[in-house]
Amino acid sequence: ARKFFVGGNFKANGSLKAIQTIVENLNGAKLDPNVEVVISPPSLFLLTTAEKVDSKIKVAAQNVFDKPDGAWTGELTVKMLTEHGIEWVILGHSERRTIFKESSEFVADKTKAALDSGLNVILCIGETLEEREAGKTIDVCCGQLKAVVDKISTADWSKVVIAYEPVWAIGTGKVATTEQAQEAHGSLREWLAKSVSPEVAQATRILYGGSVNEKNCKDLATQPDIDGFLVGGASLKPASSVTITVGM
Ligand code: 13P
Repeated sequence: ARKFFVGGNFKANGSLKAIQTIVENLNGAKLDPNVEVVISPPSLFLLTTAEKVDSKIKVAAQNVFDKPDGAWTGELTVKMLTEHGIEWVILGHSERRTIFKESSEFVADKTKAALDSGLNVILCIGETLEEREAGKTIDVCCGQLKAVVDKISTADWSKVVIAYEPVWAIGTGKVATTEQAQEAHGSLREWLAKSVSPEVAQATRILYGGSVNEKNCKDLATQPDIDGFLVGGASLKPASSVTITVGM
């Protein structure tokens, strides 16, 4: 069975104090041992989060560069993360793809570099509203996945979690319906079976992200191909991040 996974992506939000409060709440919460929990603060707060948070909760960077240490102003390297207890990285978030113009190729290069150095990757994919309305949801998402499939090995998939995040659902309050999410997740799993292997398709967690909150998560979690969530806004509210995490 796939272990349920809940990630909190704080994006560029929160002060040191606010993040410490979230960490304290999580440390004090009775977490379900059957749920894997990962939180992703802004890079400035990664070290202190990794130091302070209970070891059963893992920490993710929100991005990483694909080259070793060097003249890359503004970037973090994989080694900086792995040397300091950061075990995960979020890659390919739609905000990186659209605002910062990251191509699927670049996301795939970063995924490979992260995996090669032992990081685990939350790989985000998702379609825009225009693409959904044009019936291109699966083509777009599989295209984003294919760039990665072409660069990593079958064995590498054990360290990848896919986050399906429809762009129109992110930060809009318009959560995908359980049917829309299950349909997409099911198709992605079928595609993985064909394009990587049936074993990888069965074992890979596919998270849903986009306006998840403590109310709508319950129904979504009942779907057979939804293996967890990547939560943005709601993960910042100390009370609800805990509710979501333990409420499964
Ligand atoms: P929201 O939960 O704020 O919609 O953000 C989702 C997201 O982008 C998580 O990576």
